[in-house]
Amino acid sequence: MAIEREGGCACGRVHYRLASPPMFVHCCHCLSCQRETGSAFVLNALIETDRIEWLGRAPAPLSVPTDSGQSHRIFRCEDCQIAVWSEYGGVAKLRFVRVGTLDDPHAMRPDVHIYTRSKVPWVSLPEGVPAFEASYDSKKLWPAESLLRRRAILS
Ligand SMILES: [Zn+2]
Ligand SMILES: [Zn+2]
Repeated sequence: MAIEREGGCACGRVHYRLASPPMFVHCCHCLSCQRETGSAFVLNALIETDRIEWLGRAPAPLSVPTDSGQSHRIFRCEDCQIAVWSEYGGVAKLRFVRVGTLDDPHAMRPDVHIYTRSKVPWVSLPEGVPAFEASYDSKKLWPAESLLRRRAILS
């Protein structure tokens, strides 16, 4: 199990392990995520910062401009510059880990698709996974245990 939740950058200096499954996994189709990844969407595993164990060097944060004005810092390996996670709104206890940096990137599937209004037309969404034009109400969608975990870090 644990090996499924290890990941890191391309050069291997940033290496991490998630101590538990994430609270929730977002597939975000917004234009900012498309630009920041150079791809069609991003897969983010939302997890408490203190559940990320260091097995290598820590990545360094870099602030990026946002449309909303809300802060967004992307954490990158200082050597190979691969982005491993993001911090939104200055919430230091919560990380958005890029699922594609896991050693087994297929280990986590999206729990929700968001900002589908800007989804590229050639991506079709699977049946049975909730999808929203923009953001969504996590209180209606997240498992109770995940909501408790989030409350514990945001209170
Ligand atoms: Zn690296
Ligand atoms: Zn996005």
